Amino acid sequence: MIKLNIDNSFTASLPKDEEPENYVRTVSDFAYCRAIPLSFPKSQLVHTSTQLLKELELDPYADEESFKKLVKGQFIYPDTEPYAMGYAGHQFGNWAGQLGDGRAINLFESIHNKKRWTWQLKGAGPTPFSRRGDGLAVLRSSIREHLCSEAMYHLGVPTTRSLALSITGEEVLRDVMYDGNPAHEKGAVVCRLSPSFVRFGNFEWFASQGNTGLLKQLTDYVINHFYDHITSHGTQRYLDFFQEVSTRTLNMIIHWQRVGFVHGVMNTDNMSILGLTIDYGPYGWLEPYDHGWTPNTTDREHKRYRYGAQPEIGLWNLLQLANALFELINDAPALEAILNQYKTDYQNKHLTVMRGKLGLLTVQDNDQNLVSNLIEVLHLHEVDMTIFFRELHKIDDNNITEKALENLSIAFYDYESLSEAHRLRWTDWLEIYIKRIAVDRNAVEDDSAFAKARSQQLNSSNPKYVLRNYMAQLAIESAEKGDYNLIHELYTLLQRPYDEQPEFEKWYAKRPEWARSKIGCSMLSCSS
Ligand code: AMP
Ligand code: MG
Repeated sequence: MIKLNIDNSFTASLPKDEEPENYVRTVSDFAYCRAIPLSFPKSQLVHTSTQLLKELELDPYADEESFKKLVKGQFIYPDTEPYAMGYAGHQFGNWAGQLGDGRAINLFESIHNKKRWTWQLKGAGPTPFSRRGDGLAVLRSSIREHLCSEAMYHLGVPTTRSLALSITGEEVLRDVMYDGNPAHEKGAVVCRLSPSFVRFGNFEWFASQGNTGLLKQLTDYVINHFYDHITSHGTQRYLDFFQEVSTRTLNMIIHWQRVGFVHGVMNTDNMSILGLTIDYGPYGWLEPYDHGWTPNTTDREHKRYRYGAQPEIGLWNLLQLANALFELINDAPALEAILNQYKTDYQNKHLTVMRGKLGLLTVQDNDQNLVSNLIEVLHLHEVDMTIFFRELHKIDDNNITEKALENLSIAFYDYESLSEAHRLRWTDWLEIYIKRIAVDRNAVEDDSAFAKARSQQLNSSNPKYVLRNYMAQLAIESAEKGDYNLIHELYTLLQRPYDEQPEFEKWYAKRPEWARSKIGCSMLSCSS
């Protein structure tokens, strides 16, 4: 049997609903309920994250059978009791009340190499929080969560992880576009891991019940286990905690902006208290650079969660968390000061990230203008975000502007149709950029040191390979026919997103035309 160092902190620190039966209900004054995963007899393991296994120092081959059973939900580890957590949340700006783990079942926590991990199965059956849902997940959304969690980790974006993907061997009924056309799809389970799956919504849940005692218990639990460097006392301790959650949340969102990731459903129940990207649903990767883009068709009307709005939505979500924590802090000006700090920190950090993306090595007064003007010109014409930034190494201060624009032309979706006026806007920007690179060269005396530093700056800020929406879709379409090769290939590719990988060059390409308006590529819904 697989040997794990079990150490359950959440269930040991917070109260359990003793109701033994698993039926949908309103729960209050408890943190979690019992919920046993369904044991799908025909399930099959499809893919395992070998990198995560290494980090866990687990050898799946030594205990292959029990490992497989564990990640498929067919084996309850001795002396553990699976559970579903309760939480609430604001969805699309509105209070939604009780939500909770409706199709996620936590197995246990274990310590690996001094690091705590909670193991959770997503799609393994209903819980008391399933509301009208079936507790199940389909293969397409599970592939998307599995591949993207791991891709984000290798991109250096704070994220929950995915250890294993399996198919249940059973079918699930889903109406993908909510248009009255339900169809059967393959069911799947993702075994995902995170130090903790506690969300902003867990705090909102207790606050909405008026249960300040439990709110305090939860906050103390999270600080003691995940923010244990906070040494202050009394209300200051909670303020320091809120400050750190704010910093971590901002840091995560800045990374999203850097790599062009659009979460799609930034509801407060999908905001990790540890500042990790969580709940990969109708997310997408920016292809044509567009602050107004969202992959989520459920949000088509207001585009609340569009790429350009993510930083301010992070702030809105933090305000909801501040409201939830208020009873513990009772100091509105202090909370407001932290929220205001988020805004200034965002401006500064965003500028720093953009300097990195432009390969700039020094800090100059006009950099903010350079960045703002670039964002404007990027919107004139469809320009692929990933390719544009990755190709910037072709520009240096020896370039003449017309040539520089040509060097970047592969990033344009239809370069030939660029109007004269837009071409001028681009060359104007490039002229200033080229002069700006010269300022850096003058600052770094040694020419080869300059070239090396610039290229290192560019290549570590700008990934070459991301999980483009159509790539995930191709992997899904083959997997639905029983061919998992593409899942393996994309997993391998995305382990080294910043490296040149000539064998995978075909994935360094703009979105193909067929994917422009295809469901699953540019249009995704919350149905999963
Ligand atoms: P999401 O939009 O995926 O973050 O989900 C919002 C809420 O709906 C969470 O409480 C989920 O657990 C719940 N939920 C989503 N899909 C299902 C499902 N198929 N069965 C039960 N609950 C679900
Ligand atoms: Mg969720």
